[in-house]
Parts: sequence; structure tokens; C-alpha cells
Amino acid sequence: MALIVQKFGGTSVGSIEKIQRVAKIITDTVEQGNHVVTVVSAMGHSTDALVEMAKQINPDPSGREYDALLATGEMVTTSLLAMTLNSMGYPAVGFNGGQAGVKTEDLHNRARILEINTQNLQQQLGNNTIVIVTGFQGLDSTGNITTLGRGGSDTSAVALAGALKADRCDIYTDVTGVYSTDPRVVKEAVKLDRVTYIEMMELARVGAQVLHPRAVETAKHGNVKLCVRSTFELDNPGTLIVGVQDMETQRSVVGVACDNDQARIAMVGVPDRPGIAAEIFGSLANNNVSVDMIIQSLSHKDGGEAPTNDIAFTVNADELNEAMKVLTDVQAQINATDLVVDDGIAKVSIVGAGMVDRPGIAADMFKSLAAAGINIRMIATSEIKISCLVDKDQANHAIQVIHDIFFPEAAGAKPALVDKKLGY
Ligand code: ADP
Ligand code: ASP
Ligand code: MG
Repeated sequence: MALIVQKFGGTSVGSIEKIQRVAKIITDTVEQGNHVVTVVSAMGHSTDALVEMAKQINPDPSGREYDALLATGEMVTTSLLAMTLNSMGYPAVGFNGGQAGVKTEDLHNRARILEINTQNLQQQLGNNTIVIVTGFQGLDSTGNITTLGRGGSDTSAVALAGALKADRCDIYTDVTGVYSTDPRVVKEAVKLDRVTYIEMMELARVGAQVLHPRAVETAKHGNVKLCVRSTFELDNPGTLIVGVQDMETQRSVVGVACDNDQARIAMVGVPDRPGIAAEIFGSLANNNVSVDMIIQSLSHKDGGEAPTNDIAFTVNADELNEAMKVLTDVQAQINATDLVVDDGIAKVSIVGAGMVDRPGIAADMFKSLAAAGINIRMIATSEIKISCLVDKDQANHAIQVIHDIFFPEAAGAKPALVDKKLGY
């Protein structure tokens, strides 16, 4: 008997009818002779509603209480789904993160899973019971509820699949797979039949919402077979996330993604001396704030005084409050002139392992933005990614014009495939 982990996202369980549809997918899988562990998200946009209520009370609530509140969304779906399966005559039990043995770091809002004690789950599976687990949550070392970060139910599912040595982890969602960009933004987006772990990890990190970045990371480490597919079009095979060896051809660019949840912070008039960058970024790291793009201006002297420069960087919008608390102290310590925040920005990125050593790719991306009159405010590159910071209100236009350049086949022209064997 195979063991399959199936994860259903918010839109797949957004109503009682949809929960009934999900129950049918699960029972069909069971009838085909499989054990099933199901991981569910909160119904529809109910996590957003919980966030909204918390923020009305306190814009910067206690992490412990915030996580305890947010975790309830997944608990509702779990119980309703277990009841639905029971009423269809199937034995099913629901577990919250703690009951399922999910242990996390002692960190709220974005904890990582440290280990999963699968004893309870194994026992139920041994009795041929369908197991349903709340996504997005676990318990820290003292038993507090923690959450894994928005979109984290994908990571719960993959981590469970790894811990249970499942044969497969299927992520069911509201699109038919991973596309060349968000199909809700660019209607010509093309579905990818396969994408490598490395590229998917990078796409997810730069904003392709369809998978949580740590889910892909966990799948790669644990060798979990991962598939993204639709809850509503079951005959579509979806997208497989695979190793490089399983790709026949490789495109230079596999996808375009956008992250609207970024904020840009500039520290102005920073004394130009060794150790200052280490102080700024060290303090942020010590407070668990991740920094993404960094740009430092050339050193300049104003009015013959000691040389200074400006350092600008981006952080996740939900870490902005924390970042500003830390940076206000650092600013006072190092005597920087000003701290300026801009949250009207978005990061648009292209990703593809085939872009290594192909400088023309970056130039094409910049040209497409220039032709559309879109100003690039910051640039960051890695071997398989190029990101540009643009104004938020131009982000969708930017994605469209970049997609037009790298996926011309979407508009009927020849695909820009790179043949691995020929190496071009
Ligand atoms: P779920 O609730 O199932 O977890 P999400 O909303 O988190 O679903 O992710 C699915 C959404 O991701 C899609 O509706 C789509 O708008 C968005 N998306 C962004 N980039 C991509 C992409 N490259 N491919 C597919 N979907 C994408
Ligand atoms: N319900 C959580 C969220 O909306 C987790 C998830 O859906 O993956 O972010
Ligand atoms: Mg999701």
C-alpha cells in the first residue's frame, strides 16, 4: 500500500461544498488502495480575517497570542473534514500540529519545523484510518503554539511526507500547476510540466506564491516526490518538481515572479568606516530579520566633514516593525543621519538555471522594462536569478513585459529553449 500526503490550500476548502469535494478526492485515493495523510489550510481567506482582527487590537501583537489565534483557522478545517469523512462512512481523525508531533523552533510567526514525532499518526494509519493534520503550525520546546509563516501549510505537508517516508506529496490548489508566471496576472502564462527543485525554490523565494519556499527546500533535502495540481481539474497531471537529471531540456528562464510584500529601508549618512555594515546587518540577523537586496552608495563628503555613504536594503514587509526597532537603536549608536522607509515597492524577478554565464538575459530584462518606461530602483543577481525593484503600481505591467520577452511562444512565436546537450 502506498502512502500519499495530500495538501489542500485555502481556496480548495473555502466552503462546505468544497470540503465535500476534497473528501471525495481523499476517499477515491483510499479506494485505489492507498493510505492517505491530508494536510489542510484555513478555509478561504479566514487567516486574513484573523490577522485583521488582531491588528485592530494591536498593530504589533504578542507573537505567542498571534500564533495561537492564527493556528485556529486550520483547526476548523481539520475538524470539518474529519466529520465529513466520518459521515461518508470512512474512519478519519484530525490532529492539530502538537497532536501530530510537529516540533518547531522557539520562534513565533515564522518558526521552522525541527522534527516530527510520527508515532500517533503511524498508529492511526496502521488502523486504516485517514489522518488529517492542520497545516502551518507546531509546538515549540515549551509547548507554545507556533506558526510557520504565511503559506506554510505546504511546508507542513512536505515535512510530514518526509517524516512518514510517503511515496508522494501532492499539493492541491486552485491552479493546474506551476506556471511561467502568476496566471492571474498574465493570462498567457504557460504551465510547466516539470521544474527543478533549485529553480522552484528560487521562484518561491522571489514571490511565486504557489509553493512555500521552505516546502521546496524540505522536499529537496528529504527527497520527497512533489507535485502541484488542481483540486478542480483532476484530469490535469499538474507540475512535477524534479531533480536536474530528470529534465530533458532546460529553458534559460523558467519563470517570472513578483513579491509585493517587501519594504525598502535606506540608512542615510552612514559613517564610512570598517565594521559599520557588520553592525547594521549583524543586529538585524540577531533579531531574525532577513535582508534581501543591498545597495551601498559611493562614499561622499558633505561640507568637508567625515566621509559618509547611504545603505539601502529590502526586508519582508511583515518584518518591517521589528527591523525598524532594531535600526533605530543602530542609527543612534553609529550616528547615521536618517532612516527612510518606502513600502510602495515590489520586487520582480526572473529565474532559470540556464541563465548562468548568459549576460544577454539581464540586458533583455532591463530593456523590456526600459521600453515600458519602468524605472529600476535596485538590482540584485545570483547565478540563477535576476531581481529588479520597481514601484508597486507598475509591478503587474513589469511582469507582463518581462514575460513577453522570455516566453514569446505564449504570443505565438518560437520558444526560447536551451538544449542542454548543445549547450546554447
Ligand atoms: P493555496 O490556497 O492552495 O495554498 P495559494 O494562493 O497559496 O494557494 O497559491 C496559488 C496561487 O498562486 C494561484 O492562485 C496563483 O494566483 C498564484 N501564483 C503565483 N505565481 C504562480 C505561478 N508561477 N504558478 C502558479 N500559480 C502562481
Ligand atoms: N492559512 C495560512 C495562510 O493563509 C497557511 C496556509 O494557507 O498555507 O497563510
Ligand atoms: Mg499557499
